[in-house]
Amino acid sequence: MQDTLIKKIFDVDEVRRDFPILNREIDGKPLVYLDNAATSQKPVSVINAISDYYSRYNANIHRGVYSISMEASAAYENARISVKEFINAASEREIIFTRGTTEAINLVAYSYGLQNVNEGSEVIVSELEHHANIVPWQVLCQNRKAHLKVIPVNEKGELVIEEYKKLLSDKTAIVAVSHISNSLGTINPVKEIVRLAKAKNPKIAVLIDGAQAIHHTHVDVRDIGADFYAFSGHKMYGPMGIGVLYGRESLLEAMPPYQTGGDMISRVSFEGTTYNELPMKFEAGTPNVEGAVGLNAAIDYINSIGFGAIEEQEKMLLDHATEEILKIDGIRIIGTSQNKASVLSFVVNGLNALDIGIMLDTHGVAVRTGQHCTEPLMDKLCLPGTVRASFAFYNTKEEVDVFIKALKKVIDILK
Ligand code: PLP
Repeated sequence: MQDTLIKKIFDVDEVRRDFPILNREIDGKPLVYLDNAATSQKPVSVINAISDYYSRYNANIHRGVYSISMEASAAYENARISVKEFINAASEREIIFTRGTTEAINLVAYSYGLQNVNEGSEVIVSELEHHANIVPWQVLCQNRKAHLKVIPVNEKGELVIEEYKKLLSDKTAIVAVSHISNSLGTINPVKEIVRLAKAKNPKIAVLIDGAQAIHHTHVDVRDIGADFYAFSGHKMYGPMGIGVLYGRESLLEAMPPYQTGGDMISRVSFEGTTYNELPMKFEAGTPNVEGAVGLNAAIDYINSIGFGAIEEQEKMLLDHATEEILKIDGIRIIGTSQNKASVLSFVVNGLNALDIGIMLDTHGVAVRTGQHCTEPLMDKLCLPGTVRASFAFYNTKEEVDVFIKALKKVIDILK
């Protein structure tokens, strides 16, 4: 009954009409965009919301006493309310706008980290992490003479939870792991990861890098129970240059500002400065109003499609692509986790991933090749890189077939 309902509502051809770029041709061939894990395409409602902002009410926010400044301020704060509802945060005060996931993680590493990680403390990450969720912690550990501990992955690309349990110790200050791996598509058991950390010591702060999860599945930060959850607008059909740090209010209250300047202050004198209240304390300078407006439109768009339909379509695409690719000789899928998002990473015996990517482009097929900003993971897997096709709900079964057909031709030529 539920399935019939989803199918009736979700019409991929209709959905595709919302994304102007999907009509592009590359050298006379229709663009088949399969690099959605790197960035997603934008629906016309997002593009129009940004255009409307600049056409009708562009102004600096928060201090203007005139109409368009007040309209812009309201739009910016409405976006915050939408984000709060989208991820089920307890309050708008817990929603900090950032440039993206990277800045959100850096904010926590510098603000929370410098205050709470001391000599001999331990920070736990995993082998699956994107560089954005490794390097800030590594630098923090170097600064504080602390130690970085790493949860290993098994041959399927799943985190070894038994090893994670062993890593948790009295010295653990922070656990930072991704919700979904950008390289392999592994969906990590984040709720369990948080539960185990808190059972060891409620003071351990847990950050979840949600860059690859926020557009695939309904994220409920209170249900997950993490202290911090970071994501980027551009991965969820919104604009580039805007992202979100969700933080538990009690922790954010106690944290010092990450950047200082205008807007994040309450009072400034040459003798000293007092800071603004949450969330402004963490938003120094003119914010990305256009980005927030676009992000709000992206949230509306996702809600109009619904995660039921999104997950069903993406699973269909992943299953079909997996089945078809395995029929090709010499292919090895990298990342075969039980719980997997619509990311298909693979290598072809004897062939270079980069060559495959370049040749696929001549067929209009856009995929990502290389290390996917997860060099330690590739080292662990003893791979120089993979080819990665990542699917969004606006991709079609026919596009998967075009990709598979093109891949066969490319392999024939390169071999
Ligand atoms: N974390 C993961 C898992 C990612 O996939 C990415 C981007 O690909 C990032 C972090 C960094 O996101 P951004 O570049 O939007 O800050």
